Amino acid sequence: MAAPTSTFVPADFDGTRFESIEPLARALLERPVATKAELVAWLLDRSELDAACGEAGANLYIAMTCNTEDQGVQGAYARYVEEVAPKVKPLAFALDKRLAGLAAELALDSGEGGERYKVLTRDTRCEVELFREENVPLETELALLGQKYDQTIGAMTVDFDGREQTMPQMARYMESTDRAVREGAWRAMVARRLRDADAIDEIYDQMIERRDRVARNAGFPDYVGYAYKAKHRFDYGVSHCNAFHDACEQVIVPLIRRLDAKRKSALGLEALRPWDLSVDIKGRDPLRPFSGGAELVSKSRVVFERLDPRLAKMFAQLGDGPGRYDQPAPDGGPAYLDLDSRKGKAPGGYQFMRDRQRRPFIFMNAAGMQRDVSTMLHEAGHAFHSMLCVNEPLLAYRSAPIEFCEVASMTMELLSLPHLGGPGGFYPDSKDEARARRHQLEDSITILAWIATIDAFQHWVYANPRHTRDERRAHWLGLDARFGRAVDWTGLEAARQNTWQRQTHLFGHPFYYIEYGIAQLGALGLWLRSLEEGPAKAIDLYIAGLSLGGSRPLPELFAAAGLPFDFGPAAVRRIVDRVERELEKLPE
Ligand SMILES: [Zn+2]
Repeated sequence: MAAPTSTFVPADFDGTRFESIEPLARALLERPVATKAELVAWLLDRSELDAACGEAGANLYIAMTCNTEDQGVQGAYARYVEEVAPKVKPLAFALDKRLAGLAAELALDSGEGGERYKVLTRDTRCEVELFREENVPLETELALLGQKYDQTIGAMTVDFDGREQTMPQMARYMESTDRAVREGAWRAMVARRLRDADAIDEIYDQMIERRDRVARNAGFPDYVGYAYKAKHRFDYGVSHCNAFHDACEQVIVPLIRRLDAKRKSALGLEALRPWDLSVDIKGRDPLRPFSGGAELVSKSRVVFERLDPRLAKMFAQLGDGPGRYDQPAPDGGPAYLDLDSRKGKAPGGYQFMRDRQRRPFIFMNAAGMQRDVSTMLHEAGHAFHSMLCVNEPLLAYRSAPIEFCEVASMTMELLSLPHLGGPGGFYPDSKDEARARRHQLEDSITILAWIATIDAFQHWVYANPRHTRDERRAHWLGLDARFGRAVDWTGLEAARQNTWQRQTHLFGHPFYYIEYGIAQLGALGLWLRSLEEGPAKAIDLYIAGLSLGGSRPLPELFAAAGLPFDFGPAAVRRIVDRVERELEKLPE
């Protein structure tokens, strides 16, 4: 992997201590910069400092998630978040402000070589333009409200099956082949959620009021425009999102409802109810594609070897076992992997780049399920993205906007589909293989309609910030009628009008959701090309797009990967028609 390109940050720099960071940041703030060449050198030095600080935070986060019971690492992470990060933030903003000023003064993004700095200049200018001193306390209030929401949701438990259970634990009952068990579990969860429905409405009301004020303070008529700018959505607007909603309504929802009708008749039901959506329609047990992280790695390697030698080579670099965050990788450097589930590990999965050493890290809790296979292939896609950008000198360009990062990961979930079976693969039995493929394809389509529902809801909420709770519930019901599943909600109206309350993004990360829809369409676009022109061509495009990192605007990243930047009904129909044809070929 590439070595750092700047010697500005000493080798023994400790990015977890503000006392180490401050003098280097001050030196950058005070260093005279009179020419474009000096500004480029300044940028590289700042990039090294940011990478070193980012890696220090990453290492603390990795240790914290791998060791939830170790008070030492928990305390170190909390100290960093509460004491170091808030002091670094104003310095980072001062550096942004200086960069925006110098970039304008020295015309960094024009003239010879200026093209290279267009994205960086645009992003930095945006941050400086949005900043308002009076919004700082409002942001703090919003963070506290977000924490209150998390606590309210996290504290929910129900007594079921003879014991107290959390909501994630209850979700497993939705796969039970006993319909009475599913219904009982669903009703228990809903009853518990409804007890806090008013409290959550209150939190959301307060969030909407503050976000509206944040936007007005920054000179916007409402929070929609502010959020687009804050999320650096320079290359698409509300009309693109509306086109995505239309495509979902016209093309995706009809397919989902056809699949729901099949589900209803396969299960032999008079009516499909909300608790009938996750059970296997033939009453089979869950798939068990592997056991243990070592087998997950070896079988994933088989998948990538069959898919493409370039991807196989990158995957092999990550190691041949499940890894452990505190033990070295085979190449002697810090671990790339920590995959096995064990006591004291946080839930979930993620890929985190250690920015200074430029080494990715994948965290997982592999439990032998098909969704673990998807997660492994997904996070491997993020790691490939990181690895393909290691030689980019500027940290800001070593990662792409989220809309494209998720193309890197979701594409691997889809292009791997033809390689899940066979000897040495996850599903030697072809019936299991077909089931896994069907599952993946159906999920990739079903999620799009839910994304449209959430996205359309937020657009309405923030464009009409003075709505009443009744109006909000009525609007949600209208959206569910437009995008929802073919489910019979008779007698369950109170549950139906509050289903949005469990979508955490609405609270902690407003407007952050359509990104997954845009990326999923990109991934499906590459999947379609692999079927039409062969996998090698699709991987060529995949690598070409990923290698650009974040150095080009979003539509150009899509173009480099051979993808249209179009989310409207016509573009989506081409994809969905093919998905439906592929599903028809697969046995149930
Ligand atoms: Zn991802």
